[in-house]
Amino acid sequence: MSETVFSKIIRKEIPAKIVYEDQWALAFEDIHPQAPVHILVIPKTPLQSLAQATAQDKELLGHLQWVVAQVAQSSGLADSGYRVVTNVGSDGGQSVPHLHYHILGRRALAWPPG
Ligand code: AMP
Repeated sequence: MSETVFSKIIRKEIPAKIVYEDQWALAFEDIHPQAPVHILVIPKTPLQSLAQATAQDKELLGHLQWVVAQVAQSSGLADSGYRVVTNVGSDGGQSVPHLHYHILGRRALAWPPG
């Protein structure tokens, strides 16, 4: 996978407002928030998107979803609700080719998305 801005955030080469970190995952505030709470959860290993995930990634994917729930809880979103989005490829609107889950919350979100 090619180098991305998220690789630099993982290596702490560029600043980010990190809200959670463990051996496998990192969560930080989105630089262009689309909701009052907008956090990205990413794996530390280079996986481009769900489209590139293999059976070997199943444990990691489960862990990332657990981190999403933990971060949403610690951000105070568990009761009011929130949305989790992962954009995949060009039709999905993915702009950074490193798997990431958007956590959006603290406002009512429209459906369907654009
Ligand atoms: P996507 O369009 O789904 O690939 O989402 C990429 C997200 O990364 C966008 O919401 C951007 O605002 C966010 N982003 C890009 N660069 C940074 C950065 N340096 N720090 C935090 N978020 C970023």
